[in-house]
Amino acid sequence: MFDIDGTLTASNDLDDLAFVRTVHDIFGIKDISEDWTTYTHVTDACILREICEQQLGRSPNSEEIALFQKQLLQRLAQGAVREGGVFPIAGADALLEQLQASPDYQFCYAGGAWTASVQFKLQSAELPFADIPHAFADDHDSREGICQIALDRAQTTYQQIFTHVIYVGDGIWDVRASKNLGYPFIGIATGEDAQRLKAEGAPVVLPHYEDLQAFWDALVAIAP
Ligand SMILES: [Mg+2]
Repeated sequence: MFDIDGTLTASNDLDDLAFVRTVHDIFGIKDISEDWTTYTHVTDACILREICEQQLGRSPNSEEIALFQKQLLQRLAQGAVREGGVFPIAGADALLEQLQASPDYQFCYAGGAWTASVQFKLQSAELPFADIPHAFADDHDSREGICQIALDRAQTTYQQIFTHVIYVGDGIWDVRASKNLGYPFIGIATGEDAQRLKAEGAPVVLPHYEDLQAFWDALVAIAP
């Protein structure tokens, strides 16, 4: 089960900037906390709701959320053009191909962004989207809830009951959700971000997927 931003696509900075600018575009709100750990859940839906509650004293209505999603997508597309596209984390395309071909593993997506923006980012990065079971911020406020829905959909799509689920993510909120769900965790991060994941209890942190064997070794090593 893969998170998206920072895990499969190198899109954290693009995503953060587009989100902050869209909050200003739609609500005229500046100066929001970009320390995402200060929000109850690190998902687009929850972050937007809490920003509106703090700054406007109310939740966004469904029209505002729809408008926000549309504007966010435009901001992401503009940012992607500036940067020459959304890039996959190195080796992610080869890894997903190997997983698709594997008789022992299946994969799905569970991320904190909204579906429309995830679709844009994965397609821009030339990673598979359409056939892969997924759940995102449209489906639940919390990452744990998103992961559980993704698992349900994966079981339906693949017609299997999965007793061993491994979550792959890049944020400390990903490590925490994995712990809450009892899923072993593989971190994808470098430098200080990698140190933070380890400090949060991530047993394995890889910089990317260029060394595919390292990822497969990690899968086997941490599977219960
Ligand atoms: Mg992420």
